[in-house]
Order: sequence, then structure tokens, then C-alpha cells
Amino acid sequence: MYRSHNCGELRASHINTEVTLAGWVQKSRDKGFIVWVDLRDRYGITQLVFDEERTSKTMMEQAQNLGREFVIQVKGNVIERASKNPNIPTGDIEILVSELNILNKALLPPFTIEDKTDGGEDIRMKYRYLDIRRNPVKNSLIFRAKVAQEVRNYLSNDGFTEIETPYLIKSTPEGARDFVVPSRMNEGEFYALPQSPQTFKQLLMVGGMDKYFQIVKCFRDEDLRADRQPEFTQIDCEMAFVEQEDILNVFEGLTRHLLKEVNGVEIEKFPRMLYDDAMRLYGNDKPDIRFGMEFGELNEVAQHKDFGVFNNAELVVGIAVPGGNTYTRKEIDALIDWVKRPQVGALGMVYSRCNDDGTFKSSVDKFYDQGDLAKWAEVTDAKAGDLICVLSGDKNKARAQLSALRMELATRLGLRDPKVFAPLWVIDFPLLELDEETGHYHAMHHPFTSPKPGQIELLDTNPGDVKANAYDLVLNGNEIGGGSIRIHDKGTQAIMFKHLGFTEEEAKAQFGFLMDAFEYGAPPHGGLAFGLDRLVAILGGQETIRDFIAFPKNNSGRDVMIDAPAPIDDAQLTELSLKLNLKS
Ligand code: ASP
Repeated sequence: MYRSHNCGELRASHINTEVTLAGWVQKSRDKGFIVWVDLRDRYGITQLVFDEERTSKTMMEQAQNLGREFVIQVKGNVIERASKNPNIPTGDIEILVSELNILNKALLPPFTIEDKTDGGEDIRMKYRYLDIRRNPVKNSLIFRAKVAQEVRNYLSNDGFTEIETPYLIKSTPEGARDFVVPSRMNEGEFYALPQSPQTFKQLLMVGGMDKYFQIVKCFRDEDLRADRQPEFTQIDCEMAFVEQEDILNVFEGLTRHLLKEVNGVEIEKFPRMLYDDAMRLYGNDKPDIRFGMEFGELNEVAQHKDFGVFNNAELVVGIAVPGGNTYTRKEIDALIDWVKRPQVGALGMVYSRCNDDGTFKSSVDKFYDQGDLAKWAEVTDAKAGDLICVLSGDKNKARAQLSALRMELATRLGLRDPKVFAPLWVIDFPLLELDEETGHYHAMHHPFTSPKPGQIELLDTNPGDVKANAYDLVLNGNEIGGGSIRIHDKGTQAIMFKHLGFTEEEAKAQFGFLMDAFEYGAPPHGGLAFGLDRLVAILGGQETIRDFIAFPKNNSGRDVMIDAPAPIDDAQLTELSLKLNLKS
């Protein structure tokens, strides 16, 4: 038996018990005649004591030579500590060691195994197994497991069956590039790793499984924008014989359950917002509604004067920054520079100060009088003491830019409290999205999403106006999940593929299996998927998903610990019938 107790377990009630513990040396203090060692395992820290009077000379020497992170086993008696440590649960006791067994030595770790470590991100990722010994990472992984467990509990109790789907498949278009795997047995052919189990879960519905879920890895070869991973985990679900309302209810229930069980937060009904309203009021399809600062559209009250910038703009839109009138001229100039950064891309920003005496002072006083500015204040809901920030230009761009500014200012104002949870559904997404570069429409969600009833004809005339039975769950300004009611008949699916630019042959080659299945009695169905990594990070009150992934990849998609990806040798290439054609 390696241990009778763990390192977080012993209390005053154990005094005078003989125990065996095993763990890592966190640190030791050597006073010559007495040595204290902090022994750590996943459960906590227990203090060991070796003292000259009661410990043999050899063991005393051994204790003095213990290095950080040595793995040891000790036997000893639980005794009361002379100076207690109220900060740790085992702080009332220590172990007077009678037997010390070094199970494994350790090199000096390249960073300190402390909550606040001296190790930077790169070195911690290279030695992730050491990083995992630190409380913040360890606790995040345990937290993730709890969330996953609660998901399983909830869905299983609701009659969902957890079913695995294959990883070696054919492309699933979720809007990213596929990772591909060469097939040795099928020369010149490749599997794709699933961007999601989308088509399989639909086939499970055709198979009559009715309520499916899976906590599953998905793979997307995207340029890694901030805080994305090339492989990530979804809580993937699908249900048959359902309408949108049924799905929203089940997964609102799941989210409510998680918030309650994991965070102790009770939220009644989640608000629902139309996609069009989210874009109009927040410039964003994943609005953070923990705070106000809603957009006010100013075209009507700002396009009647000689200010060409506004007159030529498709949209003039502003927000009121609470208390923003205290900003100095210099601070406002810095804000203007902030919106002009290439990442945001605004050409400039107009502002109006809302003075305490009810007057206004704007950067465009030459064009707008007090009466005009009062209207701006009304439209943006600005109060005395606020600052109105106004952007203009192309509608979509101005909205995106103002949304970025809104989030930035809210962060600076401390309005994005990670302990406050504000979930909402965004519904009625457009079916298609115009790709500005190619001028082609592509599916906003994915090609299997069904248009709203009665809108299919619109596809020919106004494709951009067609709405879908598609919905996202948004939490604190993050999309944590999304899904749709699916197309379940071959005819509609064929029309959809046509509009997405597939020829009949292409659609058949890529998705013939699904179209065929639709001819054998496909039930109406729909579903959604939550991003588990992000959900866990938000519930855990953190911004970055990396801390909640045991072995994450860096921004270039590399695992720096195992050093992957890596070249393979010629023999392996030959076996796969592959020849490299490297650019560099
Ligand atoms: N497969 C979709 C996704 O990965 C989710 C869904 O529609 O159920 O976003």
C-alpha cells in the first residue's frame, strides 16, 4: 500500500494515528537540527517534520538532501503542530516521519510549481506535465471534468443516448478546412477528420435513435485566431420529431442546470433576441448583455446638416459611455486612435460630451447645434455625465467597429464581471451569408440548416433575406453553442446545395449518402452543439480556454511538448504513396 491517506486529508482528529503518505516535495526548510518538508499531491499539502532528537542520523541526512519535486513515501505519526497554519486544511497537524522512502528523484523543475509561477507560457507548455501539478491548471481540469459529468447526468436523465461517431470520415462542411489523413490501404485516398459529427448525427436520427449526444473532439484547420484550438470538444446533440422550441427548451434546461450545479447561480428564463435586433442593438450576433450601452442609430438625426462624413455613410451609429464625460481630451484622442487601429479599422470617431448642466460639447460643433446633440443623446440614451461615441460608414463595418469599442470600454469600466452570467438565445439567423471576397453566398450555419417555412422561394430572388431555423446560445458575449432545424427531404437539400454552388454531381459525390438516407424515411430533426472548452472557461470565470485543456496547442497549432506536427520518414511516405512538394 503506497498510502493510507492523501496529502489533503489529515486533521487534528487524526493526531496520534500512524499514517503512510506519498507525494512530491513542494519545498523544504532546513534548520540543521530540524527539517520541515511540504509534501504535495493532487489533494493538498501536508507538512512533514524530521528532527535530530527523534530521527536517525541517516534519515536526517536523507531529508536534508530532498530536492524539489522528488517523489517520496513516508510513514509516521500525526502530531499537533506547534505553530498552526490556518491557511491550509491540514494546517493543524504535521507528520513526525519514522520512515522515508525516495520513490524517484527529480531534476530541478524549469519553473516553480506554485500558483503564481515564474514560468512563462512557452516553458509551461513544453513541460505541461509539470504545469498540471500547479493548482490553477489542476483545478481547471477537475472543473472541466465536473462540467462534463453534469452534462452527461442531465442529458442521460433526459433520455439522451451517448453514441460515438467515427473520426476517420469524409469532409463535413462547417466552414473550415479539413485535416486530412492519408489512407495506406486505399492508395491516393484520404480521410478527413470531422469538423463536427453533423452528418452522422443526422443519420442517427434517420436510424431512429431519437435523442443523441456525444462529448466529442472536432477538428478544423483554421488560422488560429485568438484562443482557438485546431482540435476542440463539442457537446454535440440531435433530436428527432422536434421543433426549434423543443430544442431551445432542452438546452436552456441543460445550461440552467450547469449554472446551478457548477456555479450556484439560478437563472429563470433566458431572453431571446432576433439576429437582426442583436446586430442593430449590439453590432454583434453574440451580444454581451451584462451591461447596456446599446447602439443608437443616428441617421435620422445626423444626416440633415453639411457634415459629409455622416451624409455619405450608410449608417451613423453611436453609444453612450456611462460617466465618459470625465475622459480628458487626451484620453478621448487615445480612444480615437484605438478605433483607428487596423484590428478595428474605423476611419475616425465623432464624440459629444454630455455636460452635467444639460449642454453638449461635440467634436463636430461646427455642424451640429445643441438641439441636434440633444437628439443624439435621446437616441443613444445618454445621460448627463456620459460621452457619446459615434462611428459611421458601411453598415456592417460600422456595427462591427462600434461593437469592438463597446466591448473594450465595458472591459475598461469593469462592466464585464466574470461572476455575472447573462445567457440569451439569438434566433432567426440568416440562412446564407455573402462572402465579400468571392461574391458568393455560403451557408451561415451549415448546408443542412433548413430555411424558415415558406421562405425557400426567396432563395432565387433575395437569397440574403432568407432566414433559417437557426439559433445560438450566447453567454457573456461568447457564442457557446449553435444549431438548427435541419432539412430532412432530398428535394430541399438539393435546392440548398445548388444555391451553395454545388453542381448536382458534386453534391452527389460529397453528400450522396445523406441524400440517399433522406429517401428512406428521414424524420424531422434538429439539434445543436455547445463548445465545451469555451463553456467551461466561461463558467470557470476565465477568458482563455487553454487553461482548461490538458494538452493544448499553441497559436501555430503546435504541441510544443511532444513537438508535433513533425516530419515522417521516407519509408512511411512511401507506404502511404505520398511524395512531398515543399514550398520551402
Ligand atoms: N454541427 C454544428 C456545429 O458544429 C452544430 C449543429 O448544427 O448541431 O456548429
